[in-house]
Amino acid sequence: MDLSIVIPLLNEEESLPELESWIRRVVEAEGFSYEIIMVDDGSKDGSWAVIEQLASQNPNVRGIKFRRNYGKSAALSRGFEAAQGRVVITMDADLQDSPDEIPGLYRMITEEGYDMVSGWKKKRHDPVLTKNLPSKFYNWTARRMTGIYLHDFNCGLKAYRHSVVKSIEVYGEMHRYIPVLAKWAGFKKIGEKVVMHQERKYGVTKFGMERFIRGPLDLMSVIFISKFSKRPMHFFGAWGILFFIFGFIILAYLSIAKLVYQEYGIAERPLFYFGILTIIIGTQLFVTGFLAELVSRNAHDRNQYLVEKNV
Ligand code: UDP
Ligand code: MG
Repeated sequence: MDLSIVIPLLNEEESLPELESWIRRVVEAEGFSYEIIMVDDGSKDGSWAVIEQLASQNPNVRGIKFRRNYGKSAALSRGFEAAQGRVVITMDADLQDSPDEIPGLYRMITEEGYDMVSGWKKKRHDPVLTKNLPSKFYNWTARRMTGIYLHDFNCGLKAYRHSVVKSIEVYGEMHRYIPVLAKWAGFKKIGEKVVMHQERKYGVTKFGMERFIRGPLDLMSVIFISKFSKRPMHFFGAWGILFFIFGFIILAYLSIAKLVYQEYGIAERPLFYFGILTIIIGTQLFVTGFLAELVSRNAHDRNQYLVEKNV
């Protein structure tokens, strides 16, 4: 199969028929063998009935329905699991992403050798203050922190080589940072393509203000996990030892002052408390690192390496 199109959706009944017929028009004109995987993330409207209807008319449409709303990451993850195509393309269900981009994205993967291509909504049609500006800031931070030079990490329209979607695990709210997960899994050629973007035609946005809190927290997790999850002691242990030594020096100095130079009132000096505090913090960090080591020793993927080639 040439192409799998994975569409996560939540309450998008009005958009689906238009989306399906548009995709079908584009993909069939190219002569691709394809599947459209619609993952209904616990919709409360008539989305599932529409999907059943579309699947009965077009054998290339598959539907998966979650029992409740698990989030866009979960929907993508399930879609990736089901995808069979040589190239996997994800797009939002709300008609903001244009199916006309599919052939171009497909070719960047198959002919130009990209592992992953992210859409870039260069001219974006979303509210400026609540979406466009914060998004500029996030993308800038993500670029700086991850070293991946993309303008639009969270674009719903993306294309992947088959092996990429089978090698990464998208969970929590990680759909914002899939390029980071791909890079971390060892896929190097990550590119971007300027894509058309439209205003939402039907329905409303599913991401409210809570994304201002979750977005940055998830970026921190992504960075922390990618840097230290396999060796937490290198982070916690190093800081722990540093704090401990610092506190130890302070207390040693105070002890000498008392024992050798017979200074009085050591326990009333702020430095005394500061020394104790740093020793406690140091020990805490060290123990945290040790516990984290034990946890990562038991992680199911502790020895899962991705083999690229064999001879
Ligand atoms: N979506 C989903 N589960 C959720 C939230 C959103 O599957 O919990 C889908 C939604 O139906 C849409 C896509 O994710 O297809 C992007 O959502 P939306 O268009 O609301 O985000 P925005 O474009 O406003 O950032
Ligand atoms: Mg949208």
